[in-house]
Amino acid sequence: MKYLSTRGGMTPKTFSEILLGGLAPDGGLVMPESYPQLSRADLDTWRNLSYPQLAFEVISRFADDIPADDLKKIINASYMEEIFGSSAITPVKTLEPGLYILELSNGPTLAFKDVAMQFLGNVFEYVLARENAELNILGATSGDTGSAAEYAMRGKKGVRVFMMSPHGKMSPFQTAQMYSLQDPNIFNIAATAPFDDCQDIVKAVSNDLAFKEKYKIGAVNSINWARVIAQVVYYFKGYFAVTQSNDETVSFTVPSGNFGNVCAGHIARSMGLPIAKLVVATNENDVLDEFFRTGVYRPRPQTVHTSSPSMDITKASNFERFVFDLVGRNPAVLNGLWAQIESQGYFDLKETPYWAKVADYGFVSGASSHADRLATIRSVFERYGVMVDTHTADGIKVAASYREAGIPMLCLETALPAKFDETIMEALGRHAPRPAGLDNLEALPQRFEVMAADVEAIKRYIVAQTSA
Ligand SMILES: *Cc1c(COP(=O)(O)O)cnc(C)c1O
Repeated sequence: MKYLSTRGGMTPKTFSEILLGGLAPDGGLVMPESYPQLSRADLDTWRNLSYPQLAFEVISRFADDIPADDLKKIINASYMEEIFGSSAITPVKTLEPGLYILELSNGPTLAFKDVAMQFLGNVFEYVLARENAELNILGATSGDTGSAAEYAMRGKKGVRVFMMSPHGKMSPFQTAQMYSLQDPNIFNIAATAPFDDCQDIVKAVSNDLAFKEKYKIGAVNSINWARVIAQVVYYFKGYFAVTQSNDETVSFTVPSGNFGNVCAGHIARSMGLPIAKLVVATNENDVLDEFFRTGVYRPRPQTVHTSSPSMDITKASNFERFVFDLVGRNPAVLNGLWAQIESQGYFDLKETPYWAKVADYGFVSGASSHADRLATIRSVFERYGVMVDTHTADGIKVAASYREAGIPMLCLETALPAKFDETIMEALGRHAPRPAGLDNLEALPQRFEVMAADVEAIKRYIVAQTSA
């Protein structure tokens, strides 16, 4: 399997060659030259596999330059009952016949990003060891991504994580989750600046190509291809869990921000998984909903801060992967569309032949508000006795408009309510339960460095730690 860039300017590369990189050299996103196609016989065999076995079948088709035995070890170490709380890894909960929650948040940081990140930590360590290389991951976080990355990379050889976060701006739970890590390869930088400034610093450091090269600076953001393929696995797992035979179709609703999670659903469907609809659910930041309703993709200048903060995005970084498929994988057309974003702020596909293909791919969408979120958390709790977090609630709200008789609807759970207790209190007047072992999280000793949001200071800090 070779990888290309959506912008057409990258010589084909192997999985191992693209694994540690971010954007392709031409500014595009990496994509496989084609999607592996599954036969009916493949699906029949896969139906009976355990999560790690299924993960191997899916991932090995994309990561074909890692020897099978090594890849199996990496996957087995990533998807263990000890890490995800059950051997199912991503179990399904029935709300009522035909309506299900696909639980993706039973990993160490209580959000779906753990599913892909746990694999990433192990595959990074493997590839770095093989190449006798090191990587310094630099990132900025306002919550979920940073903690999932730290829990995946803690203790891994050859990897250090430098994670900037806005000092005093995360919830006490999120803060404690990250800052209580004592692993010597994890560096929490509490910047005395807002999140956007932290992100600007990460960009500035990464744009210093000489520094980036010399200090092996990398990232684990949501455009990382290995994250996307690790997410493809649970669409298969969810499908098999709610169907009896591979003649049936199911729909998925996905709380979306950067389009990484639902992009994995699109890939599963393109490989041959019988998916009826892929429902994209957004919050008040509805740039994706606008596209799927109107054909206009218009990244926003401003983010609205909402009670489903992990979906507060203005520009959906993985969306370019889907558009690449939509325009027949033609980089010239794609470049033209992205040039329009630069020149006029949007592109509009409504009057093009591509628009009809959006429906053919099964995509529909909807948006949710704070009031919808509260109402959904309440109704799901009252009707089914199940407490859901704010992001999952956005999904369940939007899913209601797209249920069809005879087609199971799986709503992807992207976080546990314990992470967003303030809104749970507001909706239900009671606290979200904490998973076992996390009761005293905020009381644990914390390890972090308070620093000014200054590019040179951050660089000096990285230099000092890497030569220590
Ligand atoms: C990251 C995240 C999302 C959005 O996922 P994308 O892959 O960016 O679309 C939704 N919910 C939660 C809780 C998240 O952490």
